[in-house]
Amino acid sequence: MHPAKPGAKEKLDSIRPALVELSHRIHSKPELGFEEEHASVWLSETLDGAGFRVEKGVAGLPTAFVARAGSGPLHIGICAEYDCLPGIGHACGHNLIAAMSAGAGIAAAKVADELGVTITVLGTPAEEVGNASGKIVMLEGGAFDGLHASMMVHPAPFDVSTMKLIAASMFDACYHGKEAHASAFPEQGINAADALTIAQMSLGLLRQHIRQSDRIHGIVTKGGDAPNIVPAHTSAKYIIRADTLAELEELRERVVRCFEAGALATGSRLEILGGDKPYANVIHDMEMAAIYERNAQAAGRKFADLGPMRDRVAASTDMGNVSHKIPSIHPAIGIDSLPASNHQPEFTAACITAAADQAIYDGALAMAWTIADLATSDQTRSRLMAKH
Ligand SMILES: [Zn+2]
Ligand SMILES: [Zn+2]
Repeated sequence: MHPAKPGAKEKLDSIRPALVELSHRIHSKPELGFEEEHASVWLSETLDGAGFRVEKGVAGLPTAFVARAGSGPLHIGICAEYDCLPGIGHACGHNLIAAMSAGAGIAAAKVADELGVTITVLGTPAEEVGNASGKIVMLEGGAFDGLHASMMVHPAPFDVSTMKLIAASMFDACYHGKEAHASAFPEQGINAADALTIAQMSLGLLRQHIRQSDRIHGIVTKGGDAPNIVPAHTSAKYIIRADTLAELEELRERVVRCFEAGALATGSRLEILGGDKPYANVIHDMEMAAIYERNAQAAGRKFADLGPMRDRVAASTDMGNVSHKIPSIHPAIGIDSLPASNHQPEFTAACITAAADQAIYDGALAMAWTIADLATSDQTRSRLMAKH
């Protein structure tokens, strides 16, 4: 074992209670995407206190930050997420990601000089917003420039080093019709709720003809104001997903036609908002993923063989967009939550248990040790650095 590894572990041991406290604090004050004022300040303060140079409000995003330590030629990024979900708090465990990434950064920074690395912790807001999210805007704004590799670890019911993460696009479909008295003068109305009904029926029929890996799911966000007023304004929020951005674009065209059908049939006007900056599928750097898995096992983690489940359980993340630019990993770490899984209120409760607190430590250690291995293998180091 390279001597940097025990050095990083020793540092992590010393900050373990503070990381758990940070995770619980973020969990107790859930903040939606782009509104993570407290979480981003608490994380920045933690990293500043550990000697990082912190720049807040990067890429025009008030709750984004970049924290840097060390000055070695190999430059590794660790992404910290900290947004919650509407209504159900930290049901995706981003409080754990925040603490884990800060911990990994601080532990790796302790040995940055002996490893010849620069460590950057990127505070990346609004992972759950589904379009033009934190990492996408930060990529466009140059916040990831100069990085040779990037990583983060995401809470889940189980440990997987290369979880399936597919492309996704979130958008709003809005219909504009005309109000009328629903009983006295219905012939004067243009029913925007009927338009939405037809779109949903069309999407239901479309499902027979899409790829098994494609996904379409949505909610009605406005259905009308009163049953005695013909609905003039309705809207829905939808997410479509596919294995790749190219397949997503093919699916998008077909889905848009279903929404157009609603407009055509009712005479209302369709407006589609968003969906212009989709999430890309994650391209796992397989060597980095294998190194992570070995280090996570050394930290005591167990990787189950999920069989066909591995491909069926597919989510999406803006880490995909990062992975198209920089060699990246996005492993999942188990928090012993079953039968609860991500985006359930029961998972929110599971994100502050002893198992979740343990995952902060294990995930941080596995990332710090992965960084040590990336830095000390001549072959890996030159492969990563050759890309820029
Ligand atoms: Zn989520
Ligand atoms: Zn998440």
